Amino acid sequence: MSNYNWCHGTNCHTNHTQSRVRGSGDNKVLRTIKIKQGRYNGYQNGIWDYFCNQSCLFDYIRTHIQSIVAIAPRRKALETPIKIEKEKYESHRYRHNGTDYQRVPYQATRTTIKRVDNGNG
Ligand SMILES: [Zn+2]
Repeated sequence: MSNYNWCHGTNCHTNHTQSRVRGSGDNKVLRTIKIKQGRYNGYQNGIWDYFCNQSCLFDYIRTHIQSIVAIAPRRKALETPIKIEKEKYESHRYRHNGTDYQRVPYQATRTTIKRVDNGNG
């Protein structure tokens, strides 16, 4: 069992970095980055076990986007039940009176989106 993956970035092997140079003499190449599995302890579901950096991740997504969305297509909008709460409170703004700024109170409204427990967990 291998503990390494090759970066899945479609252009990884074309980036001009010293870390990709392999070979000797006149037989040098730029090689795809080898990634140690678990290097970030599963951060972001282990996505960085397959891509050496964000540029390679997006190259892969751009190339394979149609196949990726075909895995779990979204055919209709999802909805989350919510409740809107409006609450009045005293606030202030500053108005310029020609020479300096004057603090002016006003009644402001705070709008908050609240979760609704729909029994689906
Ligand atoms: Zn890469």
